[in-house]
Amino acid sequence: MEILVTGGAGYIGSHTCVELLNSGYEVIVVDNLSNSKRESLKRVQEITGKHLKFYEIDILEKVSLEKAFSENNIEAVIHFAGFKAVGESIKMPILYYHNNITGTLILCEEMRKYNVKKLVFSSSATVYGMPKSVPISEKFPLSATNPYGRTKLMIETILQDIYASDKEWSVAILRYFNPIGAHESGRIGEDPNGTPNNLMPFITQVAVGKRDKLSIFGANYATHDGTGVRDYIHVVDIAKGHLKALEKIMKTRGIEPYNLGTGVGYSVLDVIKNFEKATNKKIPYVISEPRLGDIAECYANPIKAKTILKWSAEKNIQDMCLDAWRWQINNPNGY
Ligand code: NAD
Ligand code: UDP
Repeated sequence: MEILVTGGAGYIGSHTCVELLNSGYEVIVVDNLSNSKRESLKRVQEITGKHLKFYEIDILEKVSLEKAFSENNIEAVIHFAGFKAVGESIKMPILYYHNNITGTLILCEEMRKYNVKKLVFSSSATVYGMPKSVPISEKFPLSATNPYGRTKLMIETILQDIYASDKEWSVAILRYFNPIGAHESGRIGEDPNGTPNNLMPFITQVAVGKRDKLSIFGANYATHDGTGVRDYIHVVDIAKGHLKALEKIMKTRGIEPYNLGTGVGYSVLDVIKNFEKATNKKIPYVISEPRLGDIAECYANPIKAKTILKWSAEKNIQDMCLDAWRWQINNPNGY
């Protein structure tokens, strides 16, 4: 079965390509390499010993994107392509709305044209805005606090409208919590540009000596140790969630959101301790001001994905730390 993966050269996309190839799918990747390198796809093929087809294409270019549909027999799409940095989205909202929303509209137009109506979409726990309580279930009210989050929310709404207009569509909306870690081979992983915004890549860069110390953004939250709590989930578990979602949408019609999280929250200090234990590396840190827009606690109720998709996270925080570290030491400067 041929699966189109938009954004397949990126962090989560590359890990998902590995799982797809290992499970016998034929993979067609579309990526403009705006936030990734061709090397990631070379390594996906090296890890799996299988070939994938790559189109260096911007999904905003309808004519180019059409080639991927006309030259292949695509049965379903996994849609990762998009920009994802919250801070950048506040500075460049037009860029974010255009890339994420127009990109998705063009993709859906092509899908409709080629009668491909099976879609797995990368959403985010950010669509829960400032949740009133934890754990967060899919029924919680949705809102967004920045342009990036609004693009995810708007795309979810667009997909609901597409399904309402044509009941042949089958869409799985996957709301990821905090993906971290890397493939256990240490060959593919997260390769941020410049200073990392996210906690784990920052920690691994401190551990490898690229940065002096970590700044912990706030230690007065109403959490067990005062630092922010998140639901960290291994990227390979996230990737496997896409295969389960794919199996589901191939058999059914409709549109459903699913949380992909572990259901367990770890504070920043918990992550540091686990990283130090897993790797024997000391992470110096200072406490600094809370980051604007951050919430105290965010973790999933993952029961819907467990019951309906038959998926749950298998890897623990030690695996996540060790695999993130292996990727970092093997590739100190990324790809
Ligand atoms: P990533 O930046 O590593 O991957 C996205 C890929 O899409 C990149 O390879 C980039 O080059 C490509 N891309 C962007 N715009 C494109 C366009 N117009 N045409 C073609 N390719 C384009 O990001 P990721 O962490 O792998 O995230 C994948 C998806 O998951 C994104 O939609 C992101 O918003 C979502 N998500 C990520 C996280 C996270 O923490 N990483 C959390 C929740 C949701
Ligand atoms: N965090 C931190 N220092 C950093 C980066 C992140 O203390 O350099 C904290 C952040 O405040 C949050 C947690 O780590 O409590 C996870 O942050 P990340 O940006 O990775 O994910 P998100 O905030 O999007 O959930």
